Amino acid sequence: MSTAADLDAADPLASYAREFCPGDDLVAYLDGNSLGRPLARTVDSMRHLVEREWGDRLIRGWDELWLARAEELGDRIGAACLGAAAGQTVVGDSTTVMIYKLIRASIAMRPGRSELVILGDEFPTDRFIVEKIADDNGLAVRWVSAPHDGGITPEIAAEHVSERTAAALFSGVAYRSAWWADMPAVTGVVQSHGALMIWDCSHAVGSVPLELDAWGVDMAVGCSYKYLNGGPGAPAWAYVAARYQEQVVNPIPGWLGAREPFAMTQGYEPAMGIRRLVSGTPPIVGMVPLADMLSLIERAGIAAIREKSVELTSFAIELIDELIPDARLASPRDAARRGSHITVDHPNSARAVQTLWGDGVIPDFRHPSGVRIGLSPLSTTFAEVERGVRSLAAALA
Ligand SMILES: *Cc1c(COP(=O)(O)O)cnc(C)c1O
Repeated sequence: MSTAADLDAADPLASYAREFCPGDDLVAYLDGNSLGRPLARTVDSMRHLVEREWGDRLIRGWDELWLARAEELGDRIGAACLGAAAGQTVVGDSTTVMIYKLIRASIAMRPGRSELVILGDEFPTDRFIVEKIADDNGLAVRWVSAPHDGGITPEIAAEHVSERTAAALFSGVAYRSAWWADMPAVTGVVQSHGALMIWDCSHAVGSVPLELDAWGVDMAVGCSYKYLNGGPGAPAWAYVAARYQEQVVNPIPGWLGAREPFAMTQGYEPAMGIRRLVSGTPPIVGMVPLADMLSLIERAGIAAIREKSVELTSFAIELIDELIPDARLASPRDAARRGSHITVDHPNSARAVQTLWGDGVIPDFRHPSGVRIGLSPLSTTFAEVERGVRSLAAALA
């Protein structure tokens, strides 16, 4: 087994970790998949926004800078992380609201269909929205189960998706197990029944390479405060394949998604293209940290990020096997099917995580007995993983 020092010395991305704010009591940050760390340069970027863009340009800032920003940032996320050509991705709202919009749009595109398909242990917000929309529209929810250390597979999808399905919502990388689905194969199964495939890429974006265009995905959505380090409450992003954009009806029609926002016309006419997914004023302030992190991802490249991610999670699993033999891994051992976090089950998890947080070692507790360790490739070092897992072993004992 290589040592943390060997691995850090050989890491081509090692210098990136020094670009993040150090944190005053931080020993090991193992929760980069819940809230990514801030970049030091973002202090200057925020100052620039306040003093120069907002302070100097005032209302002129909208015409000069901000109106196009939701689409410009969307295109950058698309190019750097999603395998999406320009004009299909937009930034705004929270993931929750974006999921709502996409599911409402997709059931309107599949009239007469009676079911929505989702995993029973999907992230809460996804389940809540699917249940509510189904309830409001007289549809049924088809709850699907998957193994504790897994997630959606083409076989499981094939058992549940049918001619009754309007849309299926699955996670590209599962929030608890980190199961990275065979996204092109699952997409194929869902579409073979004429249903629409919506991927929640909250834990996938910025950690695994996505090829939404090449895989023929219909729609996708994701969070920006995890591996995109957009900060607390950073706006989400949504992707709608170009072929569907003229059919998508935004269930929250607002002035900035209208064809002529400043014409103040009677009646809503949607914008052509992805901007029709915008409702109200986009959160420009909240986009600043996200833009900074995208610069790093563009520089490093998602392929190198993925390579380091695999090494980080593999190293963590080796350490856990050695130091915490009574923990049960609840994530795939096969690195090819694993995102950038791992979950281990242990009866002492809740108490251990509480102690560790006080000591500057920060993993995540997942009810009822999981410790989730998120390893954000650009900000996490191998030495940090070793410090974190050693502390975890002591706290669990
Ligand atoms: C983090 C996460 C979200 C976040 O939703 P917000 O509304 O942006 O807070 C949604 N879905 C999944 C699967 C997530 O992991």
